[in-house]
Amino acid sequence: MDFARRKLFSKAGLVGATALATYSQSSLAQSASKTPFEIPQTTIPIVGSTQAFPVRRIYCIGRNYEAHAREMGSDPTREPPFFFQKPTDAIQFVPPGQLINHPYPSLTKNYHHEIELVAALSKGGRDIPVEKALEYVYGYAIGLDMTRRDLQRAMGNEKKPWEIGKSFDHSAPIGPIHTVEKFGHITQGAIWLKVNGVIKQEANLSQMIWSVAEQISKLSSAFEMMPGDIIYSGTPENVGPVVVGDTMEGHIDGLPNISLRVI
Ligand code: MN
Repeated sequence: MDFARRKLFSKAGLVGATALATYSQSSLAQSASKTPFEIPQTTIPIVGSTQAFPVRRIYCIGRNYEAHAREMGSDPTREPPFFFQKPTDAIQFVPPGQLINHPYPSLTKNYHHEIELVAALSKGGRDIPVEKALEYVYGYAIGLDMTRRDLQRAMGNEKKPWEIGKSFDHSAPIGPIHTVEKFGHITQGAIWLKVNGVIKQEANLSQMIWSVAEQISKLSSAFEMMPGDIIYSGTPENVGPVVVGDTMEGHIDGLPNISLRVI
């Protein structure tokens, strides 16, 4: 670097430092609390409470039931389950006892239901042992991991991230949170999904390859878990398409059913 350039750089650096100092004094302290527009916090109602559960991240487990892993083309004895995320604002709250409208998403011609148990965390940590993991669960809910299967498959075939198939608006319908304190842990029981009154998916939660406790433990080795994280725990076999006009009804023993009409 010649002398002139060096001088120019050091002068620019000085100006930058001065500007930063001025900025710090005048506005930096306030900038943390003021934003030019509002972004709503995603929350999920809690049964029996006036409070709502604030959602930080949505983790999802892939291929966590043997028969579903096989129908997706993998061998569960050789390939373990895995994780992906949906954006937090993909949540669509489904009040029990109501049939709510669920918009058919753009771009897909093969839109699939995946019924899943969801665990909601109120504590965070890294490298959480399996034996301690359920202490981090605040409650449970019934959810749907809605999937644009054609886009997921097409991206997978090209060895590209299949985010577009999973992580889109309204792709995470969910019922209210049932707290462990009032309702206990959910480790087994029937899980099913009907389309237009006909059973499509049906299994028992005990058939999960990784239990909820194991999911939390494994996730916490890859990410620092935090309060507000929720985990979609994977879907059983016989995922399949819905079209506009179809009604989906989801069930998990111990939780109220959810019902959605695809519009
Ligand atoms: Mn899923």
